[in-house]
Amino acid sequence: MSDKKDYYGLLGVGRTASKEEIKAAYRALAKKFHPDLNKDNPKLAEEKFKEISEAYEVLIDDDKRARYDQYGHAGVASDFSKEGFTWRDFSHVSDLEDIFGHDIFSDFFGRGSIFSDFFGTRRWGFAQPEEPVKQVRVEIALEQAYKGVSTEVAIPHMEKCADCGGSGTAKGTIPRTCTSCKGRGEVQQEQLQGFGRIIKIGACPACRGRGNIIEHPCQNCHGSGEIQKLDKINVKIPPGVDNGTTLRVTADKAAGRLKEDVYVIVSVQPHPIFHRQGSDIYMETTISLIEAALGSKIEVPTLDGNALMKIPPGTQTETLFRLRGSGMPYLKGRGFGDQYVRVIVYTPKNLTKRQKELLEEFQAIEIKK
Ligand SMILES: [Zn+2]
Ligand SMILES: [Zn+2]
Repeated sequence: MSDKKDYYGLLGVGRTASKEEIKAAYRALAKKFHPDLNKDNPKLAEEKFKEISEAYEVLIDDDKRARYDQYGHAGVASDFSKEGFTWRDFSHVSDLEDIFGHDIFSDFFGRGSIFSDFFGTRRWGFAQPEEPVKQVRVEIALEQAYKGVSTEVAIPHMEKCADCGGSGTAKGTIPRTCTSCKGRGEVQQEQLQGFGRIIKIGACPACRGRGNIIEHPCQNCHGSGEIQKLDKINVKIPPGVDNGTTLRVTADKAAGRLKEDVYVIVSVQPHPIFHRQGSDIYMETTISLIEAALGSKIEVPTLDGNALMKIPPGTQTETLFRLRGSGMPYLKGRGFGDQYVRVIVYTPKNLTKRQKELLEEFQAIEIKK
C-alpha cells in the first residue's frame, strides 16, 4: 500500500483545502483526463481519471477525509472493495454529470468501457437477484440449550419513512428529475452482435434506479425513504440445540407479527465447567489422594443439578468416568447423551507434622503395584 499516491497530491491541493477548492481541482482534472479527450492514450487517461476520482471520493467527504488525515490510506481501506477503489465505490456520480453533462453515462455505455465495473454484471438485464432469507442470531447459555427456552428476538425490517412518506426528500422540497435517464430509472445499452443489435437495460447509475436525484434529503431517513423497525417475536428454542443450529420461524406461526420467514441462528455460549461434544458433556473434577486410594462417593454438577458418582478404591489420576444419560438431550428423537467426568487426583501440600509422620509410616510399608 506504500506505493499509493497521496490524495492531496493527486488533486494538487493543500492539506487545508476547502471543499470548493477540492471540487474545482477535481473538475479541472476530470476534464483533462477524460478518456474521450485523450484519444492517443485512453488507457492511461482512464487510470488517471480513476485515481483522481478515488482521491475526490475521500477528500470531499468529511468523515473519510478525517480518517485519511489521521491514518492515511489504511483509514479508508474499508470504504472500498478488497482490491481497492472501484467505480462502484464512487458516490458522486452526479458531480461528474454536472461536469460532463447528462449524456456521460450513455456515452460510456456505447463503448462499454470505464464504468463497466460500476454496474457489475448482475445488474444488467431483467433477472432480479434473489432476496436472501433474513437471518437473526440469538445467543443462549448451555443450560438453556439443555432445557429449551422461549426467548424474544428482534427482527429488523424496513418501513416507509413517516416523515417523507417514502419519498426521501425533506418537507417542502421536490427531487430533481434525473437527467441521465430522464426520470426512467433505467438506461439502455446498444450492442452490435453479428449483423444484429441487442439492447440491454440496466439501473441508471446516476440516480441508482430511482429516476430522480434528491438534493435535500429527509432528516429522518437520510434520503432512503425507509426506516428500520424491529419486530419482536417469541421464538421457542427446543432442548438440545447446538452452536449453529438454524431454526426457521415462519411468518404465520409468529402470530401475525412477522411479514416474512426468518432463520434464527442459535449460538450457545461456552460454559465455565462443561465442555460439549455433540450430545456428550465433558468436565473435570479433583479428588484427594485418600479418596482415590480408599474409594468414595463424590457429588458432581450436571446440567440437571447434581449427581453422586462412585470413585472405586485405587482410582488413578486422569481416569474418565461416565454418567450415563446426563448429557444433552437429542435434538431429534428421544434420549440423552452421556456426561464424562475426568478425575484429577490432588497431591496434598503444606502437611502438618502429624500428617507427615503418618505418611512416612505408610511409606515404610512396602506397596505392591
Ligand atoms: Zn437516472
Ligand atoms: Zn424520510
